[in-house]
Amino acid sequence: MSSTKELAVIEKQQDELDNKFMQRAYQLAQQAESHDEIPVGAVVVFDGEIIGEGFNQSIMLNDPSAHAEMLAIRQAGQKLDNYRMLDCTLYVTLEPCPMCAGLLVHSRIKRLVYAAKDAKTGAAGSLIDLLNHQELNHQVEVRDGVMANECSSLLSAFFKRRRAEKKSAKKAAKEG
Ligand SMILES: [Zn+2]
Repeated sequence: MSSTKELAVIEKQQDELDNKFMQRAYQLAQQAESHDEIPVGAVVVFDGEIIGEGFNQSIMLNDPSAHAEMLAIRQAGQKLDNYRMLDCTLYVTLEPCPMCAGLLVHSRIKRLVYAAKDAKTGAAGSLIDLLNHQELNHQVEVRDGVMANECSSLLSAFFKRRRAEKKSAKKAAKEG
């Protein structure tokens, strides 16, 4: 087998794995939505196995740091019994914010795979790029666009529903 073919096979396998783990992150995002939290889900994978999971719980926990990535990495740290996530991959349904991108650098995670871009606060290239900042002591491999349509539809449907709910609450208050 030529090396180009081998490379194509490896890429295909990686693609299938990325989709499989993003599927799980998507389920976690749906779980966030069922709690009326912004639907974002994340998993940390090491050696082909999920070692940490999280979904957004900022409102529930009264904790602005309780983002999906943060919770997944905390769980992975416990499981690994280590504060470094060397050779791990984080899958998340939305481009990480600056806080979570900073966490990825601190954790020395190897790779980030995310679904939807976040033009407003994305720190993996959309607004700023903390993950490939040459002045920082760690750079992260990044892949985006895996299940992007599904994950961004989930988010936009959530915000649309919330706007409608706010509007009708306002209307009810006016009439009441
Ligand atoms: Zn975040």
